[in-house]
Amino acid sequence: MVIMTMTSSRAFLPVLERIAEETGRTPGRGRPADYIPALAACDPRSFGMAVAELDGTVYGVGDWRQPFSTQSITKVFTLALDLAREGDELWEHVGREPSGNPFNSLVQLEYEQGIPRNPFINAGALVVTDRLQTRTGDAAGELLAFLRAESGNASLGFDQGVAASESQHGDRNAALAHFMASYGNIDNEIPVLLDQYFRQCSVAASCADLALATTFLARHGIRADGTRLLTRSQAKQVNAVMLTCGTYDAAGEFAYRVGLPGKSGVGGGIIAVVPGRCALSVWSPGLDERGNSVAGVAALDRFTTLTGLSVF
Ligand code: GLU
Repeated sequence: MVIMTMTSSRAFLPVLERIAEETGRTPGRGRPADYIPALAACDPRSFGMAVAELDGTVYGVGDWRQPFSTQSITKVFTLALDLAREGDELWEHVGREPSGNPFNSLVQLEYEQGIPRNPFINAGALVVTDRLQTRTGDAAGELLAFLRAESGNASLGFDQGVAASESQHGDRNAALAHFMASYGNIDNEIPVLLDQYFRQCSVAASCADLALATTFLARHGIRADGTRLLTRSQAKQVNAVMLTCGTYDAAGEFAYRVGLPGKSGVGGGIIAVVPGRCALSVWSPGLDERGNSVAGVAALDRFTTLTGLSVF
């Protein structure tokens, strides 16, 4: 666990406490994802929120230390890890425009010749994981090592039950991977890629872990140990793609309400970045019809409204 430093300003703690109190009074918080049993079993009343400041100080409210299934949130970290290695060449294999289609859609891929619209729909994330796998030989292991280092939590790991369940229900992801392979946009054997991707999605982490792991984007590319992962320009690129494509088919609404780069997952987690200031993570498993956490989006909306912080 990360220890809070004595120099911590914990500037946002009163705001978080107010948001937690307001959230507790709000009934009707969406429905947990039900495509795999492990997610369906989550209590929709769970709620946690954490802030990590640039110096690594982390604090939160509610269930902020409880691990949950990170799912598509991990797409941000694999994107950053691959971009750091191969730079702009990545963008020849995946685009950076919103798709306007569901996150697991196949239709666009055919008329765009196997190049997915962006790295945060499943097709795009499969391409990124494939390329990271080619470069490292263990994309999921690379992701886990990064998350452990940034969060300071060595016990962070994969949830084997979730990974197995994803695999059992993985026909659509397998179809996406095979289809892109037919266009020459996948390097690795499909079973190898899918195993890496499902383990990536299965990472269990808390709001505290994720806020800390996201802070490199608030530090314009600098990791917790002071080394640089991304150039300042690449960090801007990742934040921009989060803003425009990070919350499924509701990125416009998220930008309108929250005004920050963010990435959600069907486990009910969301990460968000205030560049130059802090990183946020919120979790509540009840989702809206677009797949974003109802209480999570509302909490981030309140955070930027109460603090006046946003990128706009
Ligand atoms: N494991 C999920 C899938 O690939 C990720 C869903 C999500 O969080 O968007 O279908």
